Amino acid sequence: MLSVAEAQRRILAVISTLPSVETFISGSVNRVLAEDIVAGRNLPAWDNSAMDGYAVKASDVTGSSQRLRVIATIPAGACEVPTLLPGTAARIFTGAPLPEGADTVMIQENTSIDGEYVTFHRAARHRENVRQQGEDAKAGSTVLSAGRVLSPGDINLLASLGRSRVSVYRRPKVAIISTGDELVEIDGPEPGLGQIINSNVYALAAAVQLAGGVPVITPPVPDNPESIRNAFLSARSADAIVTCGGMSVGDFDYVRDVLRELTSDEYGFWKVAIKPGKPIGFGTLGHCALFGLPGNPASAWVTFILFVRPSLLKMQGHTMVLPLPRRARLAHALKAGGARQNYLRIAAYRDASGELWVDASRNQSSGALTSIANADGLAIVAPSAPAREEGDSIDVLLLNTRVDRHS
Ligand code: AMP
Ligand code: MG
Repeated sequence: MLSVAEAQRRILAVISTLPSVETFISGSVNRVLAEDIVAGRNLPAWDNSAMDGYAVKASDVTGSSQRLRVIATIPAGACEVPTLLPGTAARIFTGAPLPEGADTVMIQENTSIDGEYVTFHRAARHRENVRQQGEDAKAGSTVLSAGRVLSPGDINLLASLGRSRVSVYRRPKVAIISTGDELVEIDGPEPGLGQIINSNVYALAAAVQLAGGVPVITPPVPDNPESIRNAFLSARSADAIVTCGGMSVGDFDYVRDVLRELTSDEYGFWKVAIKPGKPIGFGTLGHCALFGLPGNPASAWVTFILFVRPSLLKMQGHTMVLPLPRRARLAHALKAGGARQNYLRIAAYRDASGELWVDASRNQSSGALTSIANADGLAIVAPSAPAREEGDSIDVLLLNTRVDRHS
């Protein structure tokens, strides 16, 4: 059996980053920048006031009761700005351009007004409350580098530079194919005995979306090799195909055989030391990466998180693609690990001191849907890990934000 880490390594060695595309910045958050962004202008473009107050020349306000005549008012958005003569001040508001002849803004809290005169209660400090042209970003400087995952703050910067479009890596199109004679459509007639709704396809589509991909849901495919082969071949224009079901050694598990037949042998592997999820497959069909996941909902979810999600992230130009474990304390004793790396569904919470605790005492059956729905993440029990006591630490993958919201 392959270790989880080795399986991840082999898959990621084959996955490559997709080409870049131009996109509007409004759709670029969390996407990976594919170009360096060089400022085409200064930020700010001109000296301006950081506060509401009075624009002055600092050398005109030397004492603690200096009085100057106010010769103009400059609101934010002012297009014409008067020149300040020596010995005068201008009323100015936050963001307004500093007038020629001024170098400093005195905040209004330290002034008193008497008709058209303003008296300053203290001496000016040269350039105080002035945002200088280019102090934030200089024209010609690189402000964002390729490879960066765009944040709302980055998007503000791009917009301020007048960049409405940027080059980012393309989102992968991911076809999701479920196989199984027992599967029926969600909006069809009430499922009869032996039939279940094709639920994995919706969960996998949601997981693809969260990973930045574009899911394409296809109807369930019956358990026969020809239908499975046709489904794969007609989806091969996607960047990835994710199948679930039919990977085991049961009499009706044909996906494995079709995957073997259609993809090149060197990548396929069929037994990973993981629980839930042991039988999984991987290969390529032309440019399309093919992931064969097991059908049990928990197995499909865990193997998606460990093998498919990192691949989809790599396709989009991300470099930190593997889920990052963090340490937590166990709310109860846990028995020693077995032959496979076990991923236990956990409830996670923080105690009064902010420490993270996890409880893995819920139903770990690979078909149990409520325990997947309620899982805050997965605790990792390595093969042959020693038994643990309550309070011992354990590696966990936190997979939703509920735990942070609830604490
Ligand atoms: P398989 O991997 O095909 O042997 O399926 C294992 C278990 O997962 C069976 O109980 C299936 O009914 C269930 N299963 C397979 N595919 C799906 C699916 N698309 N949605 C929900 N359950 C599924
Ligand atoms: Mg099946």
